[in-house]
Amino acid sequence: MKLIFSLEKKLHSMRAAIFLALLLLGVIPGVITGGIFFRMYESRALDMDAVSMTNQTQLLSDQILSTGYLKNTQVDEINTQLKALGNIYSGRIIIIDNSLRVVKDTYDISEGKTFVWKNVIESLRGQRTSVYDRVSHCLIITVPIQNSDSSNNIEGVILVTRSTENMEQNLSFYRNLLVYLSIVIIVVVFLLSCLLADRFTRPLHKLSDAIKDSQELHDEVAVEDFTETGDISHNYNEVMRKMRAIDESRQEFVSNVSHELKTPLTSMKVLADSLNAMEDEATIDMYQDFMHDITQEIDRETKIINDLLSLVRMDKSGATLNITSVNINDMLESLLKRLGPIAKKQNVELVLESFRPVTAEVDEVKLSLGIMNLIENGIKYNDKGGYVHVTLNADHQYFYISIEDNGMGIPKDSIEHIFDRFYRVDKSHSREIGGTGLGLAITKNAIDMHRGLIKVHSEVGEGTTFDVRVPLIYIKEQA
Ligand code: ADP
Repeated sequence: MKLIFSLEKKLHSMRAAIFLALLLLGVIPGVITGGIFFRMYESRALDMDAVSMTNQTQLLSDQILSTGYLKNTQVDEINTQLKALGNIYSGRIIIIDNSLRVVKDTYDISEGKTFVWKNVIESLRGQRTSVYDRVSHCLIITVPIQNSDSSNNIEGVILVTRSTENMEQNLSFYRNLLVYLSIVIIVVVFLLSCLLADRFTRPLHKLSDAIKDSQELHDEVAVEDFTETGDISHNYNEVMRKMRAIDESRQEFVSNVSHELKTPLTSMKVLADSLNAMEDEATIDMYQDFMHDITQEIDRETKIINDLLSLVRMDKSGATLNITSVNINDMLESLLKRLGPIAKKQNVELVLESFRPVTAEVDEVKLSLGIMNLIENGIKYNDKGGYVHVTLNADHQYFYISIEDNGMGIPKDSIEHIFDRFYRVDKSHSREIGGTGLGLAITKNAIDMHRGLIKVHSEVGEGTTFDVRVPLIYIKEQA
C-alpha cells in the first residue's frame, strides 16, 4: 500500500511530467520524421527508376517501329537489346501489338497469346503508365509504340517489369539503420530527459526543504536558482514577515489585555486590603466610600470585557453581519437620544443635522456601536460648554456621517495610533473618564466591515472631526 502510494506520488510529480514531456518531445518528432523520410525515399527511388525505364523503353519503341519488329521479330539488333535490358532489370519484357497479341515475351511464355491488362489498354490510348507491385516485388511500366509521323498511330505497347529486390534490400538496410538510430536516440533522449527533469526540479526540492527546515517565523529562505524559485522565496519571506507582524501584535494584544484586566483587580485588592487593615477603626462612611470605589472598578472591568467581546465579535468575517435596510436618520436620532443625558451631565451641546433622508443596507447594531463611540468620545474629550455636531448627508453611492467637536483635540503624532487597540493619548486622563482604549478600534472594525472609510482631522485645543463614509448598498466581499 505504502509502495503504491509512493509510486503514485512519483507519477504525479513535476519531475515525472517534465521527464515525460522531454521524452515525448525528443522521440515523437524523431520517429515521425524518420517514417516520413523513409516513405519519401522509397517513393522517390521508385519514381526515378520508372522514369529511367520509361526513357530507355521509349528508345526501344522507336527502334521497334523503324525495324518493323512488330511484323517480323527476327531482328537480331532488337532481340539482343531486349535480352540485355531483361538482364539489367532482372525482369521481363513483353511486346504487344495493337490487337493485344503478344509479339515477343523475353520469358517465352506468352508469345501468340492475347494480353489484356488495364495499363496496356491505357497505353494503347497513348498513356505511359507505371505501377509498383508490392506482392511480386516489381515495378511495371507500359510505353506505347507510337508513330512519330503525322498519323501518330499506336502500333503496340511495350511492357517492362523490373525486379525491385535490389532497391528493397537498400530500403531494408536503411530501415534497419533507422531503427538502430532511433534506439540510440531514444536512449540518449531518455538519459537527457532524466538529467534535465532532475535539474529543473532540484531548486523546487531545495525550496521545499528550506521551507521545511525554517523552524522560526524569522527564518528566511533564499533559493535563487531560477527566477521563479527566487520569486517564491521572496513571497514566502513576505508572508512570514506579515505573520511575524500579526504574531507580534497578537502578543502585544494579549499582554495589553492582561494588563488592562489586572489594573481594576489590583485597585480592588488594594481597597479591600486597606479596609481589612483598618479593622475596628473603619467607620460605616469609610466602608461606603471604599465600596463605591470598588463598584467603580467592577464597572470598569465589565466595560473592558464588554468592549473586548464587541471587538472579538467584529474580528470575525463579514458573514456575521446582519444586514437590513436601515433608516440612518432614525438611527442617529436614537443614538443622540441615548447619549443626551451624558452630554447634559458634561454640559456639552449635542446637535444632529440631517441634509436628506437616508436609508442604507447596514448592520444596525454594529454601525450604531461604531458611531456611538465617536459621539461619546466627542462628549468625553470635551470641555464644559463645548459642542458635538453630527451631520448626515448622502449621494447616489454613499452616505456620510461627520462628528465634529470643539474639545481638546488629538496631537499630530498620536493620530496614526488612535485606532490601535488600547491606545490612549493620555492614559490617566482617559482612565479617569472611563476610557478603555478600545472604542476607536471597535469603530474602525465596524466601518471596515461595511466596506466604509473613516478619516480624522484634529487640532489640539480646537477640536476633532471624524468623517465616516459607508456605501448605501452593502458590497459582499469578493471571493
Ligand atoms: P477610549 O476608550 O480611551 O476613549 P478610544 O479608542 O475611543 O479609547 O480613543 C483612543 C484615544 O483617542 C483616546 O484615549 C483619546 O485620547 C483619543 N480620542 C478619541 N476621540 C477623541 C476626541 N474626539 N477628541 C480628543 N481625543 C480623542
